[in-house]
Amino acid sequence: MVAHFVYILKCGDGTLYTGYARDPQKRLQEHREGKKGAKYTRGRGPLELVWQESYDTREEAMGREYEIKQMSRETKMALIEGLQADQGGREKGRLYLCATPIGNLEDITLRVLRVLKEVDLIAAEDTRHTRKLLTHFDIHTPLTSYHQHNEAAKSNRLVEDLLAGKQVALVSDAGMPGISDPGYYLIRAALEAGIEVIPLPGPSAALTALVVSGLSTDRFAFEGFLPGKKKERQLRLSRLAEEDRTIIFYEAPHRLTACLSDLAAAWGERQAAVVRELTKIHEEAVRGPLSRVLAHFQENPPKGEFVIVVEGAGEDVQKKQEAWEGVSLEEHLRKVMATGLTKKEAIKEVASQRGLSKREVYKLAVELD
Ligand code: SAM
Repeated sequence: MVAHFVYILKCGDGTLYTGYARDPQKRLQEHREGKKGAKYTRGRGPLELVWQESYDTREEAMGREYEIKQMSRETKMALIEGLQADQGGREKGRLYLCATPIGNLEDITLRVLRVLKEVDLIAAEDTRHTRKLLTHFDIHTPLTSYHQHNEAAKSNRLVEDLLAGKQVALVSDAGMPGISDPGYYLIRAALEAGIEVIPLPGPSAALTALVVSGLSTDRFAFEGFLPGKKKERQLRLSRLAEEDRTIIFYEAPHRLTACLSDLAAAWGERQAAVVRELTKIHEEAVRGPLSRVLAHFQENPPKGEFVIVVEGAGEDVQKKQEAWEGVSLEEHLRKVMATGLTKKEAIKEVASQRGLSKREVYKLAVELD
C-alpha cells in the first residue's frame, strides 16, 4: 500500500514547516533546491526533517496536516520531542549497515551478530532468506522487507521508525547492502533526516574476487552488472576502453559467456580472472587472457555465482611500451614509413603499436623534420 505522510521540517533559524507528501525525503530535497513549497523555507538556513508520520489515506494525512498547522510552535516542539519521550527518552535510532556472508556462514562477524540481536528491526532484501540466516544463529529480531520494488516507500517508513527512536539494521541477501543491492535510497534518506548511519564491514564478492584474481589491486574500478542488452553492453565497454584500473564486474551465470565474448571482442588479450562460488564448496578461479577464459566457459557451462575481474588498459599500454623498449621512436617511425605508409598513417600506427597518443608521436615527428 502507498503511504501518505505528514512531516515537519526545521529550518536553520528555528522555523518549523509542516507539510503533506508521498515522499518526505523527495520533498525535503525540493525545499532545499528551492522547488515545490520552498517559498516558506527559503533563506531560513539549513533544513532538517525532524518528524514524520504515515497514514493509509490522503484524507487522513491532510486532516492531520491541518491539525498540526493550527498548533503553536511549543505544541509542535512537544510533538517532536514527545516522540522521543515515548521511546523512553531515547534519541533518534541508528541505521546499521550489516554485511552478511556470500556463502560460508562462518564469515559473519561477531559485531554483526550482536547488532542483529540487539536492534529493534531488521530490514531485509528477502525476509525468508534472512530468516534462515537468523535461525542458524538463533536470532529472533523482527524482520521487514526492503527490496528494489518498495525502496522509496519503505525507506520513508523506516526513517519514520528511526526518527521515533528505533534501531534498525539493513541487510541484503548476501554481502554488503547497497553494493549492487538495495540500500542507497534508505541510506540517503536516513542521512537527510539527520540519522546516524553505521557501517559494519564484512564480506563482499567484489573485493574478495579482486584479491584472489592475481591482477593489480593498487587501483580498481567496480562496475557492478553490465547491461543485459548486447548493444548497451558493447557501448558501456567502449566507454570503459581507456580505464586503466583493474575492473570488477558482477555477472549472472546465464549471461556469462555472452558477456565474456563481448569483453574478449572489445579488449583482446587482456588478462582476466573469472571467480566463481566464492567461499562455497565449488569455489574456483579461471585465470588467463579473456579469449582463453571465454573458451573455458564455452566448454564448461557456467554454474553458480560469478565475478569477472579484468586487467585495466594501463597495463596493456605498459606492455606495448615495454615491447618497443630499446627501439627509438625515430627508428620506429622510419621502419613503419619504409613499409609504404604516409607520415600521417605511420604516426597513427606507431601510436597504436606503442600505446601512445597520436599527439605524442606527432610532436616527435615534427622535431625530427
Ligand atoms: N551485495 C553483494 C556484495 O556485496 O557482493 C552483491 C549482490 S549482487 C545482487 C549478486 C552478485 O554478486 C552475483 O550475481 C555475483 O556476481 C556476485 N556474488 C555474490 N556472491 C558471490 C559468490 N559467493 N561468489 C561469486 N560471486 C558472488
